[in-house]
Amino acid sequence: MQEQTKIIHSIPVDELTGAIAVPIYQTSTFVQESPGVNKGFDYARSNNPTRKALEDIVAKLENGSGGYAFASGLAAIDAVVKLLESGDEILAVDDIYGGAFRLFTHIYQKFGIKIKYVDASDAANVAEAISPKTKLIWLESPTNPTLKISDIEAIAKIAKANNCLLCVDNTFASPASQKPIDLGADLVIHSATKYLGGHSDLIAGVVITKTSELGEKIKFIQNATGSILAPFDSFLVIRGIETLSLRVKQHSENAQRIAEFLQSCDFINNVYYPGLSTHPNHHIAKQQQKYFGGIIAFDLKIDEKEIAKQIVSKTKLFKLAESLGGVKSLICLPCEMTHKSIPAEKRHQSGVTDSLIRLSVGLEDADDLIEDLKQTFELAFSNHEQKYFIDLLKNL
Ligand SMILES: *Cc1c(COP(=O)(O)O)cnc(C)c1O
Repeated sequence: MQEQTKIIHSIPVDELTGAIAVPIYQTSTFVQESPGVNKGFDYARSNNPTRKALEDIVAKLENGSGGYAFASGLAAIDAVVKLLESGDEILAVDDIYGGAFRLFTHIYQKFGIKIKYVDASDAANVAEAISPKTKLIWLESPTNPTLKISDIEAIAKIAKANNCLLCVDNTFASPASQKPIDLGADLVIHSATKYLGGHSDLIAGVVITKTSELGEKIKFIQNATGSILAPFDSFLVIRGIETLSLRVKQHSENAQRIAEFLQSCDFINNVYYPGLSTHPNHHIAKQQQKYFGGIIAFDLKIDEKEIAKQIVSKTKLFKLAESLGGVKSLICLPCEMTHKSIPAEKRHQSGVTDSLIRLSVGLEDADDLIEDLKQTFELAFSNHEQKYFIDLLKNL
């Protein structure tokens, strides 16, 4: 059965009423027939039918044994870290999501969990950095915002050989494009706020486990710590998932066209997009992803924050905002927004220059989006004294 059919029909029809949409069970508790005898639900932190429907759907989507829905992507990451003990070490991809960096460094380090960061775009670096204390490898592929790609299958083998878990934050690719468990990962997390939800209208996270043994541990942590996803938000994520593969396909087609357009602009320095043959790990992305996704980053030949600020302020269709993965296109300036808390030197080392701009390409028509970028470039450069750019613009 094809993916799209599978996704749509993984959403259950309500057994009680036949409702074709999953009902929102807005209840805190469930009446028991006699003490301890119930219909599988006793208290809604432990289990809720709407949340359970979502959890079963994401487990199927990622080919895992179980899924667990949390109040945010960060709560999902937090649950995975709680599998560890004091003295254990996490080996994480170096340009990790800022919120995960903050959680690992500023919350878990003081509880005795050590964190090491590594450039995982070469699997050999991971093999070299691993130690007997490493209990968890943390990957994102593609990463944010420079779209680095790691070879998940190769790193899963390294994890297995060293008896440690591999967790992949699959937010950027989404399961419509990439299935880390099939490539050997033990755990997958998502910020469902992004592509799974898909409409910029909720905050949610999920964990998917490969084995039921790991699933039981995550379930225990979910219930014991309580940061569960509410029934209404669970319903919204399910509704988002119905169109996930259609959306990701279109996001990716639009992004490919925009990345190629940006590459043709003389005043642009780097264009980061895994779908470009110039991307250093394009061959790996091609192997492990069905689509290359909707996120692009680029920077300017003259690395001027002021011009970049003008560019992100003068778009009409691309809205200036953090976050990604929704139907409306977004634009942001990481050095002033998502990556502001990272020291400038460290930021520059990881490619987040002062003029680096990130796009979350939405579902508008690609021609309109390209026109929007052209007009913002013209406005931004005409306001600027640098004649250099105006000359370059003539080549647009
Ligand atoms: C947004 C995001 C998160 C955090 O998710 P929230 O839902 O905002 O808590 C984690 N990882 C990645 C890659 C993200 O983009």
